[in-house]
Amino acid sequence: ATPTAVMVATGVGANNGVLIKGGDALERAQKIKYVIFDKTGTLTQGKATVTTAKVFSGMNRGEFLTLVASAEASSEHPLAKAIVEYTRHFHFFDEPSAAKAHNNGQESKSFGWLLDVSDFSALPGQGVQCFVGGKKILVGNRKLMTENKITIPSHVENFVVELEESAKTGILVAYDNDIIGVLGVADPLKREAAVVVEGLMKMGVNPVMVTGDNWRTAKAVAKEVGITDFRAEVMPAGKADVVRSFQKGGNVVAMVGDGINDSPALAAADVGMAIGAGTDIAIEAADYVLMRSNLEDVITAIDLSRKTFSRIR
Ligand code: ADP
Ligand code: MG
Repeated sequence: ATPTAVMVATGVGANNGVLIKGGDALERAQKIKYVIFDKTGTLTQGKATVTTAKVFSGMNRGEFLTLVASAEASSEHPLAKAIVEYTRHFHFFDEPSAAKAHNNGQESKSFGWLLDVSDFSALPGQGVQCFVGGKKILVGNRKLMTENKITIPSHVENFVVELEESAKTGILVAYDNDIIGVLGVADPLKREAAVVVEGLMKMGVNPVMVTGDNWRTAKAVAKEVGITDFRAEVMPAGKADVVRSFQKGGNVVAMVGDGINDSPALAAADVGMAIGAGTDIAIEAADYVLMRSNLEDVITAIDLSRKTFSRIR
């Protein structure tokens, strides 16, 4: 393709909300063999909603939810936001005194109904931990519990499995070394996700899904969207390794992602595509930015490259 053709293609992309950072990226896209999609916020809407909250202790729901939301209040994770949002509504309608009771009758400074926490830390790919009233609270997945030597009783495990088999993420809560409850969170697929997966296959491109979420939820989501090849329980640093494993033998690999977690993988990929609504760090690391955050633009990008570079000079 001539420099003019590249310039025209870049312009056509921009008019469609597909920002291409350079002619090399535009050229590589025509040869894409695998498109690796991040799950949360890329294939899914990234608008997690709590669907279930089950207490497995003597605590009442108000106390339980207030504890969990207080622990998650400092986290930027979509799961954390969903929990705080859910609890906010619950709190006002049901048990407004729970937080106050826990804070020895005093309202927290930040949010009337949240408890004061100390020593907060977010553990990427696992969850959060902090202290409330001198007791440790952990909110996250099985790995977080195992690493903290918390035993998951079999009736709790069964409940989590049930959530995961219906494509939900089960979030475990431990307080003072005991599991006190579980939350179920749903994050629906983007409307176009399944159509795009099918479209890619028709173009001879293989769709793959990668996620830090657990294997069972991943399997259910992959099935819903029509992807058979997926990698689950991948720690943030591991996504780039997944990209490299697909590159073996010289395959051209695209990565599509939105999160901070995805940026090493976006950089490692031959073609990194960031979701426009995603984090700045992901956008920085990518070769393409899909401004509309619509997955159809993955196809637009490949099409544009194929058309530009197959043209007879
Ligand atoms: P993904 O790769 O799907 O974007 P992440 O790597 O961000 O997922 O997180 C992987 C898993 O770690 C989540 O599915 C969840 O189980 C757990 N997790 C991470 N952050 C949190 C949090 N703030 N609260 C609860 N669980 C969390
Ligand atoms: Mg994501």
